[in-house]
Amino acid sequence: MQNVPITVAYGDGIGPEIMRATLRVLEAAGARIAPETIEIGEAVYKRGQSSGIETASWDSLRRTKVFLKSPITTPQGGGFKSLNVTVRKTLGLYANVRPSVSYDPYVATKHPGVDVVIVRENEEDLYAGIEHRQSDEVYQCLKLVSRPGCEKIVRYAFEYARVNGRKRVTCMTKDNIMKLTDGLFHQVFNEIAKEYPDIASDHMIIDIGAARLATRPETFDVIVTLNLYGDIISDIVAEVTGSVGLGGSANIGDHCAMFEAVHGSAPDISGQGIANPSGLLLAAVMMLVHIGQGEVAEKIHNAWLATLEDGVHTGDIYHEKVSELKVGTHAFAQAVIDRLGRVPQRFAPVAYAGGSPIAVTGRVSTLHPAHKELTGIDVFLHWRGRPDVLGPQLAALDGDGLALTMVTNRGVKVYPDGLPETFCTDHWRCRFMAPAGKTATRSQVLSLLMRVGNAGLDFVKTEHLYTFDGQTGFSLGQGQ
Ligand code: NAD
Repeated sequence: MQNVPITVAYGDGIGPEIMRATLRVLEAAGARIAPETIEIGEAVYKRGQSSGIETASWDSLRRTKVFLKSPITTPQGGGFKSLNVTVRKTLGLYANVRPSVSYDPYVATKHPGVDVVIVRENEEDLYAGIEHRQSDEVYQCLKLVSRPGCEKIVRYAFEYARVNGRKRVTCMTKDNIMKLTDGLFHQVFNEIAKEYPDIASDHMIIDIGAARLATRPETFDVIVTLNLYGDIISDIVAEVTGSVGLGGSANIGDHCAMFEAVHGSAPDISGQGIANPSGLLLAAVMMLVHIGQGEVAEKIHNAWLATLEDGVHTGDIYHEKVSELKVGTHAFAQAVIDRLGRVPQRFAPVAYAGGSPIAVTGRVSTLHPAHKELTGIDVFLHWRGRPDVLGPQLAALDGDGLALTMVTNRGVKVYPDGLPETFCTDHWRCRFMAPAGKTATRSQVLSLLMRVGNAGLDFVKTEHLYTFDGQTGFSLGQGQ
């Protein structure tokens, strides 16, 4: 069988040490890979490449489609782009998959028996990075959620669960507040769950979900969620299992995939030969499953569990009560190699016969375009003063088919019938609507904006208010 080309980056800090150790184990286990090395991180940033990766390196990534990556050191100060975000977005790596397991009693945790996988949407949500300052006091970040984005990640989570023999997928959103964006994610989850009757599914509001993860993590199986929530809860669960330093993660797309440790470049222990290579090694295990070498992945993972059980530990997890031998990076890798072919006695052995779910992901439904009607416009103003002064000034601009229906400040209705207690900033949303049952036109919108501008009001953005097949496509003001 031919060796599978993969792209490898040794990274910064402890990166080269843990990559060498990982590749040694892979080689000894008979992984059929042909690594090609690219340079990323500090040295590239310092050469003036603000993305941390050379243009030529993309050729390797696009050719091999598989990236095993060591952590890098992100230079302090402005101007440098996050390499991870760049790689994820450029290669369309929409699913971040992060297993968290407690290895009690070998790794200290208050929560034995945890085996959770968080499947986090990786490209959308507040991470679209679209931010604006709109007034002296107000800044905004756009939260973008798309139906294909939701479908891809939710289907991936169910496929992952099925292929890996998992029993339940829990969706976490905040759709009681964000009814359109998080509401879409939840709705798509409900639709796709029906395609997987063999897997249980449920939904939790993210706040109680995060709290339960911190207190009863052993009750969860697979969790699928939006980008920001996923970022936060994957750290919570890694922390409560005590296995942050042992975690590997996968970033999966339709064309390419990236595998890395959860931890950073640990500059404080770099060059000492004491780093724990487990995070990168477990990421490499996920990579082997992904490229169809499940039997090699299984052999390595079971040997690694046996090493942990035998008490052969690096300094970060060494504990006199349970550890037998304190080793460095190289010796730890050797201990894993020595145990290749063994299965753990205390931990449950892993089995990767099912292979990777990647081949069946990426399907998205084709929607018929909805009948879209313009019903009004939100005009955002940079303005300082009291709402009972602004309201009448705006109402005087009514005409040509559009009339002021409300003014909100930070989402709360302050005109008409506002309360004097409501704190107001210098950023106002002023909603003008066509009469009930009527549609608005673009020229009506433009003439309204002319009137607003001519009245000396500083409009800083607008949002069109549409219905889609008769359904309202915008939120109401709080208190409306
Ligand atoms: P870190 O994860 O590098 O280190 C946190 C602590 O954990 C340190 O005390 C470190 O010694 C220890 N540690 C981490 N990995 C270890 C290992 N394998 N074995 C033993 N001990 C280990 O986090 P940090 O200090 O916040 O970040 C250091 C640098 O890494 C920063 O420049 C940061 O931007 C970068 N970083 C990169 C990635 C990535 O490339 N994916 C991820 C996180 C942080």
